[in-house]
Amino acid sequence: MYNAASDRYEKMRYNRCGRSGLKLSALSLGLWHNFGSCDNYDNMVSMVTTAFDLGITHFDIANNYGPYPGSAEENFGKIMKAVMTPYRDELIISSKAGYGMWDGPYGDHGSRKYLIASCDQSLKRTGLEYFDIFYHHRPDPETPMEETAAALDHIVRSGRALYVGVSNYSPEQTLKMSQILKSMGTPLVIHQPRYNMLERNIENGLQTVLEHEGIGSISFCPLAQGLLTNKYLHGIPKDSRATKSVFLTEDKVNNTDLSKIAALDEVAERRGQTLAQMALRWNLRGGKLTSVLIGASRPAQIVENVKALDAPDLTAEELTEIDDILGR
Ligand code: NDP
Repeated sequence: MYNAASDRYEKMRYNRCGRSGLKLSALSLGLWHNFGSCDNYDNMVSMVTTAFDLGITHFDIANNYGPYPGSAEENFGKIMKAVMTPYRDELIISSKAGYGMWDGPYGDHGSRKYLIASCDQSLKRTGLEYFDIFYHHRPDPETPMEETAAALDHIVRSGRALYVGVSNYSPEQTLKMSQILKSMGTPLVIHQPRYNMLERNIENGLQTVLEHEGIGSISFCPLAQGLLTNKYLHGIPKDSRATKSVFLTEDKVNNTDLSKIAALDEVAERRGQTLAQMALRWNLRGGKLTSVLIGASRPAQIVENVKALDAPDLTAEELTEIDDILGR
């Protein structure tokens, strides 16, 4: 029997998501890796409960997370049923559709047919009555944006989700989607872009659109899948993501200038933090993001990462030093 920590709301920060009524924990937990059919179930339960005990209220999934695709939703559903159901109203659970999920012309991209069918499948796999946020996972250049927007609007009006978001949309696509959705009375509440010290595309116009439109943001891969930690500084550990994922390969690690990562690690050490903690703190600097979406392979990483919030904000000198190290 799981009883959530009674002090879970004392340390975490909760930020308003754009100009909506929704608040998100400053750190959220994503289930892209380590929640699939080949992963250890007890470890998954422990990661979810550890996160919740530390005040993380937002858990992010997608239809295709696994492997196999759909298994992360199934596992999250199992965890909900086993331990988290009493806390359903304290949780913000998101899912997404936009990448290939099933065979044939209706299992991918951004049509009304795909999005609504996929949302229904995701609800079934998780056993949830509704998602708090439902995302279009990536832009679809072929489906009229009006159709995708109408599908998202329908998903909200039919009670399948409370809020809608987009992910991986450019500034122009985001502005257009925001305007269409606004005209339908279902605001675009959140954008989920990739953002970390090494990958800063959102600074080229997206943040301006988000601020102007009052859309919140949650960054994914804030640790560049583990590259922005000290874990690869002395070789590739046997159980690390680089040994088992097609998204972060050993080649990618070997082609990274690790002397820069080591220099960042020294800055973090001077601040009394680990590099992971400093990288998360960097994402949260200036309060522009609503939340930072971390991944983890074990509960101890979540404990370490949440402590990122304890340290003071990065100073102007530290930010310059980081940019100098990275040659920016
Ligand atoms: P991160 O960049 O936070 O990488 C997480 C990985 O870094 C962990 O699995 C772990 O890898 C390692 N790590 C975490 N903390 C530490 C630590 N303290 N010390 C050492 N290593 C650490 O995020 P993800 O790439 O996992 O992405 C996070 C979430 O973002 C996903 O779960 C998903 O919800 C979302 N996402 C969304 C996308 C989209 O298109 N919308 C695309 C990608 C992700 P290891 O296994 O090596 O221990």
